[in-house]
Amino acid sequence: MDRKRVEELLCLSKKKERLAHAYMVQGGSQKIRKEVGVFFSQLLVCETDDKKTISPCKKCSACLLVKKESHPDVQWVTPEKSILSIDEVRRLKEEIYIKPFSAQYKVFLLEADWMKQEAANSLLKILEEPPPYGVLVLLVRTAHNFLPTIVSRCIRLSLNLELDKEVEQKNAQIIKCILDARRKRNWNEFFNRINAFVKDTEREEQESLVEQVVLLAHASFIQNEAKSAGAGQPQLPERKQTDIMDIKLDTMERILQFRNRLRYNVNPRVLLERLILEFR
Ligand SMILES: [Zn+2]
Repeated sequence: MDRKRVEELLCLSKKKERLAHAYMVQGGSQKIRKEVGVFFSQLLVCETDDKKTISPCKKCSACLLVKKESHPDVQWVTPEKSILSIDEVRRLKEEIYIKPFSAQYKVFLLEADWMKQEAANSLLKILEEPPPYGVLVLLVRTAHNFLPTIVSRCIRLSLNLELDKEVEQKNAQIIKCILDARRKRNWNEFFNRINAFVKDTEREEQESLVEQVVLLAHASFIQNEAKSAGAGQPQLPERKQTDIMDIKLDTMERILQFRNRLRYNVNPRVLLERLILEFR
């Protein structure tokens, strides 16, 4: 679903008084998930009582406080490395059973990608007996990382995968530098660039870079195939001739295999090195 649709659904379920106590928003990008979290919180605490619209006004003091992340009844839980710890769940538990300060609801936004068994069990207890005013929103990359017992207690909302335009441009620049070093066989530069990128970024950004490298390889592969089939130059939008590399079918297959390994938590630095070394 695109983000607008997700927001409409949330508005409708509030209007029909069919709100649940737990939601899992997955996909999109971290930025978009966060924006959906802000929107949903505003929807729940907005103080403007306007019968004509079902969405939050985004102008009242409650809406503005949510935006500044300082509304007393909207709490963000942003664990280190996106791994929810047992301590964080314990704190959440202490907080959620205290009645809201000024709003009708008390909202908890959890930006988590993983949680250990202990934390999951504790969270499950909260999900089993939430207070009537409590709303938990898990903002996650993918629901696959969570226990089915947790996922099944949440209303799941899937956002379309979107690459942030800014991130995309930054990535393109980094990929170009790494590929240049690869072509010139400047190995020092090659390994240093990858190392620096991995050191400075979170996993989500690393995955988006890998995805972009795969797309680049794929575009080159298609172009080469079309050329050898005598079909002339296929129309690839906005891709310059200099970007096209010699990618054969077996190379493309290996590249896709590497990409899939990212799911099994392999070291992203090693993965990027192996991936780009496939480019000739
Ligand atoms: Zn408002």
